[in-house]
Amino acid sequence: MHDIKLLAVSRKTSLREALARLDLTGAGLLLLVGTDGCFERTVTDGDLRRLLLNGAGLDSSLEQLPPKQSQVIARGASRREALDRMNHHGINHLPVIDENNQVVEVLDRKEIDTQILLSTPHMGDTERDYVEEAFRTNWIAPLGPNVDAFERELAEKVGARHAAALSSGTAAIHLGLRILGVGQGDRVFCSTLTFAASANPIVYQGAEPVFIDSDDSSWNMSPLALERAFEAARKEGWLPKAVIVVSLYGQSADMDPLMSLCERYGVPILEDAAESLGATYKGRASGTFGRIGVYSFNGNKIITTSGGGMLVSDDADVVAKARYLSTQARDPAPHYQHSEIGFNYRMSNILAGVGRGQLRVLDQRVESRREVFASYRTALADIPVITWMPEPDWSYSTHWLTACTISAAAGITRLELMQRMAAELIEVRPLWKPMHLQPVFAGCRYFTAGSDSVADRLFDQGLCLPSGSNMPSDHVDRVVSVLRKYLR
Ligand SMILES: *Cc1c(COP(=O)(O)O)cnc(C)c1O
Repeated sequence: MHDIKLLAVSRKTSLREALARLDLTGAGLLLLVGTDGCFERTVTDGDLRRLLLNGAGLDSSLEQLPPKQSQVIARGASRREALDRMNHHGINHLPVIDENNQVVEVLDRKEIDTQILLSTPHMGDTERDYVEEAFRTNWIAPLGPNVDAFERELAEKVGARHAAALSSGTAAIHLGLRILGVGQGDRVFCSTLTFAASANPIVYQGAEPVFIDSDDSSWNMSPLALERAFEAARKEGWLPKAVIVVSLYGQSADMDPLMSLCERYGVPILEDAAESLGATYKGRASGTFGRIGVYSFNGNKIITTSGGGMLVSDDADVVAKARYLSTQARDPAPHYQHSEIGFNYRMSNILAGVGRGQLRVLDQRVESRREVFASYRTALADIPVITWMPEPDWSYSTHWLTACTISAAAGITRLELMQRMAAELIEVRPLWKPMHLQPVFAGCRYFTAGSDSVADRLFDQGLCLPSGSNMPSDHVDRVVSVLRKYLR
């Protein structure tokens, strides 16, 4: 921020003084202000040089400066508008003026041209060492010691017996469903409030998704809605082949009632814990409750391998099968022989090296994300139209993304608020659009607990705020101040 008092000169100011001020402030421009304090024009190095070349002495005043239409912007304009103005006129500074034509601030491109992103990769200190080791030993591909170690280390971290490192979380869900025997004509229950990658693999397998609503208390799958779906299925004489329980935004679903329902009907759970690595449910790691658990290391997740996933299970056969299917399903024969259709879904030794380094800082990343959430909650505690994603007492959430709803009483829609934030170069996102509302899943069945759909309401009102573990606190402050401005 530039000190406006130092930048302000008048027609009476000497050329010497003006040059000295330019030198002192380093802003590259001065503000010529009239006797009434009103802004007249900007004065640059070049303007002063031209006065000198036209014969003015160092002790002469700025009286000779010709009038000029300088670019200014009105107070209250967004960062985006200010940047557009700067870009259009090829300038790096822009005086902000109020209703009385007084300069209140000078915007500096360097300071305002910073985008606050939702969630960005955050590398630790050792990823590079593991990757360099892979280069040094030429373990570039296909598999190698980093893959084995990453599987072992992740399994140990979450308390699962076995793990298979794969090319993505989506690949892990796909293999998981396939291993659970999901095939043509089967049905699979799946949380409706989730990312499409939870449900797409159901269709890859030729099966049909049936969507289940969220619970208000966790935003994840409602045990009541699941019960209704099971009852309806039983009455119609069928059962789903599997249930995909998703744990959103760093928080586990309420596993106990969901598991006891699935046990009662004898249907296995595939836990989509892509967003909840590092979270716990009643003290145990999210992702280790289902027969199969899935994590993602996509670029925006809490830790990343730039792209990757992991399938975990306590069943050694399940994980062995995942490894086999992920490497083209090769039979143990001296030649290339296949008795099953396989996939190319294995993680590379290079990326596993990144994963090993990331795993070492997972706890710190969880801490930081929780701190970001706590800062938002504290700073916005007096704004009643914001409701944070609840964290039940059985949950230890990573707050991978700080998620909230904005009630209708705010007088601004979620979409309008998102546009305002975007104009301030702040990336916010709506909550996932429920799967039962997706055009591609039109016609799929959907079960709620009661008469209204919780997921629909969460989607209408929900917002994810920038939450990166590497987010500086002044960025949190910036998000807070823009929210305060529009949610008074
Ligand atoms: C990210 C994500 C996935 C997919 O993981 P990828 O590694 O990107 O394939 C699946 N489900 C949920 C809920 C996710 O957020």
